[in-house]
Amino acid sequence: MTQDTTTAPTWYEATRVASPARERLAFDLDTDVCVIGAGLAGLTVAREVARRGWSVAVLEGASVASAASGRNTGFVLPGYSESIDAMIERVGLDHTKQLWALAEQGLNYVRHTIDDNKLPGIAMTNGWLHVDKADHADATRAAVERLRWIGADAEMWTTAQVRAQLANDRYFNAVQFRNAFHIHPLNYALGLAALAEKAGARIFEDTPALSIDPAGVRKRIVTPQGRVRAAHVVLAGNVQLGALMPDIAATLLPVTTFVMVTEPLGPQLHELVRYRGAISDTNRADNHYRIVGDNRLQWSGRMRVWQADPQRFKAALVDDIKRNYPDLGAVEVAHLWRGTLGRTIHRMPQIGAVSDGVWLASGFGGHGLNTTAMAGDLVARGIVDGDQTWRLFAPYELVWAGGRLGRAIAQGLYWGRSLVDEAKAVLSRSRERRRLAKAARQKAQEEALKLGGPVVVPVLPSPAELAAAPVPDTPAEPKVLPAGEPPPGEPERRRNRGKRGKTGDTKKTRLGKNDKIEPVPPG
Ligand SMILES: Cc1cc2nc3c(=O)[nH]c(=O)nc-3n(C[C@H](O)[C@H](O)[C@H](O)COP(=O)(O)OP(=O)(O)OC[C@H]3O[C@@H](n4cnc5c(N)ncnc54)[C@H](O)[C@@H]3O)c2cc1C
Repeated sequence: MTQDTTTAPTWYEATRVASPARERLAFDLDTDVCVIGAGLAGLTVAREVARRGWSVAVLEGASVASAASGRNTGFVLPGYSESIDAMIERVGLDHTKQLWALAEQGLNYVRHTIDDNKLPGIAMTNGWLHVDKADHADATRAAVERLRWIGADAEMWTTAQVRAQLANDRYFNAVQFRNAFHIHPLNYALGLAALAEKAGARIFEDTPALSIDPAGVRKRIVTPQGRVRAAHVVLAGNVQLGALMPDIAATLLPVTTFVMVTEPLGPQLHELVRYRGAISDTNRADNHYRIVGDNRLQWSGRMRVWQADPQRFKAALVDDIKRNYPDLGAVEVAHLWRGTLGRTIHRMPQIGAVSDGVWLASGFGGHGLNTTAMAGDLVARGIVDGDQTWRLFAPYELVWAGGRLGRAIAQGLYWGRSLVDEAKAVLSRSRERRRLAKAARQKAQEEALKLGGPVVVPVLPSPAELAAAPVPDTPAEPKVLPAGEPPPGEPERRRNRGKRGKTGDTKKTRLGKNDKIEPVPPG
């Protein structure tokens, strides 16, 4: 089993609360439920099963939350990786509303678990601002209406509101999710493990499940030094499940993303980033950030479908910070790490019984903090109470993720998408410059008329000059464009040129089908 140990301890490791080392399983054990994997999904299942009075053992191949659950960005968001439009298309409006409500329950589960048990070291901070780097006010407003309609607590922020909180003139409108929050995810997982144990669960670390015999009433699980017999097995191993259940593992696309935390920054940090909630500024993997430890910036971005060395992304991530906040001054990196999440083809989690007594809680993608909590609760209720709510996920069946080809396609789409997003952002910024120049020109004319003198006007750059203006921020790496996507830059401008009014009015910009602002996960 591979673990992410390529770099110095994560910020989370450096600030983790005390937690006991747990023994490895070195004897045979009979239990009602055996959970494989002590990430957030497995720990929540264990806690909820134990709270209902059943015996439960968790087998963890490494240590509690040593994988994605203890290495993520820490944004606890409503909803799923999948967009609500795609969900409605697949399962209908009512079904989507029910699924959304479940995801909100997951979010509330995390909040209440932290609050009710006063879990230490979590630094829970409210709010998530999803900022658009292209000027799509009408589309953003419509997206907010759709989100509210489905049950989300979302509000639109204008460009002026955004820039009052974030000193960044690359940003335009945003959607704020008021009930979202961010946390120290490792300390949450460690707190959850302690609560599960308090309720009666047993957790064994350094205990990989090597094989499972799922036949019969009692399932048999073999580990290096002990065996488990259980009436129910819950597979909560995420992308590491691999050799144990290859068919199930093949339904996940492993996606690796990169996170860093800076050394303490000066007082200007709080002047430039006034918003204390979590911030995401694109529709895809780049960038997600927040202030941690009072005066440090946690910044994440980039994705690869292989476990690339995080050091390769250090300079690019620092450049991202400097481009967005040039007045921050020197930025030194204190911690840099990677984490791997498991994404399904339909971008929805895999929750429920796959055969008699064998359960799956997996595929949470970059949206796992609320959905692992939801899944843990649903699976425990399914096992102990016979509750069938998990069947709401039945339309999202197990789908093969495409193996190596699937990974190549996903990487190409990410790179192509990044280029298109960047082209749209550049276009919006150049339109804004035109608008400002025109306003200045009109003002100067009015002033001159008031004074009765000659009219001196600033020269407005021509569309050709604007089109030829340097485009400073194109991502360094992308070279691959997905089939059917227009190349960014010039053709984008050419295509839009005919649509512009004389003033370059941004209202005429139209979004493509995939360009809506949705709760998009950090991973
Ligand atoms: C960099 C990054 C940033 C992210 N940011 C966010 C975010 O801000 N918000 C959000 O909602 N989501 C985020 N995510 C996603 C979220 O972290 C995951 O969806 C979630 O943690 C998955 O939890 P899990 O329990 O399913 O899996 P994991 O945390 O991966 O845990 C699975 C565990 O199972 C164990 N295991 C596997 N196979 C075996 C076996 N055979 N025997 C024993 N043990 C086994 C593994 O060792 C591992 O500990 C992010 C993910 C990454 C990587």
